[in-house]
Amino acid sequence: MSEDARRALITGVTGQDGGHLAELLHDQGYEVFGLLRGQRNARKEAFEREFPYVHLVEADLTDQTSLIQAVITAEPHEIYNLGAISHVGYSFRNPQLTADITAKGVLNLLEAVRITGMAERTRFYQASTSEMFGGLDYNRPGNGYTEDSLFHPRSPYGVAKLYAHWIARNYRESYGMFVSTGILFNHEGERRGLEFVTRKISNAVAAIHLGHQDHVVLGDLHPKRDWGYAGDYVRGMWQILQHSEPDDFVLATGETHSIEEFLTLAFQEVGISDWRPYVRQDPAFMRPAEVDILLGDPTKAETILGWKREVDFPGLVKLMVQHDLRVLGQ
Ligand code: GDP
Repeated sequence: MSEDARRALITGVTGQDGGHLAELLHDQGYEVFGLLRGQRNARKEAFEREFPYVHLVEADLTDQTSLIQAVITAEPHEIYNLGAISHVGYSFRNPQLTADITAKGVLNLLEAVRITGMAERTRFYQASTSEMFGGLDYNRPGNGYTEDSLFHPRSPYGVAKLYAHWIARNYRESYGMFVSTGILFNHEGERRGLEFVTRKISNAVAAIHLGHQDHVVLGDLHPKRDWGYAGDYVRGMWQILQHSEPDDFVLATGETHSIEEFLTLAFQEVGISDWRPYVRQDPAFMRPAEVDILLGDPTKAETILGWKREVDFPGLVKLMVQHDLRVLGQ
């Protein structure tokens, strides 16, 4: 371990944001540590090939002792807690596991920092989410949800993330710890998992264009999301922790688009002007409670941190479809 380098510990390092963030921190000269779960994690080898510079530390967000050990090993100046059950649909099928990891895991990690006496020197980033807002009729986003908008989560995932958000703020207020939260609206890209609707669509469009499949099965096409590019958002996470004070920041594009709009642009990217013949719907992909609309107002992050997203909605769709055409075409 180098004495001089700044050290960062990332939980959820094998996920979409973990990959983008590990790359960004490494480029900035950080020594990067990543938490890896399980006796034989299926993602380990591929991850090590892509990120040979990340020190992997075995630990589990539900296991307090392992987290204490991980914090002692990494001695991090910055912790980015990205580890979570992060899929809304999955959280309805596994609500207890979601609570254990997405909610209580944050408490376990905060306690690990406090117990080891690292609270003074370690800055802590908690990945909060727009799913905490809910998009209900009585709480529509107007010009965009802000850091002070009302919360009404609509899924076990959203409820667990709300606990995580508040326990993070509570540790800041109770113990004076440098704990910040980023309330991130949906962010996508070439590392997004196929279980999320944007990547499912970009992957299917590429496969249809290449003749590998003839349709894609989706759920509700009307919900609207504020979709940005994950690469822009991890830069925001880093900026949040470099700020002089711990605080809460919304990261969003300030635009909202329906799944139909995403479908339209994605199919246009391969020269198909009408997506309808290629899309079927199945209630299996619908949720017991839906979030109809999300729209964020990133004014605070733009003003205080100077953060600004670079990729716009058409740029995001293009980037994802072109990536999947390259990957599937090989
Ligand atoms: P979320 O906003 O975190 O739930 O991100 P997702 O990408 O999983 O879902 C975004 C929206 O797409 C939600 O309103 C889903 O109900 C809707 N949706 C429609 N069809 C699908 C599908 O086949 N898979 C997923 N994941 N979402 C779908």
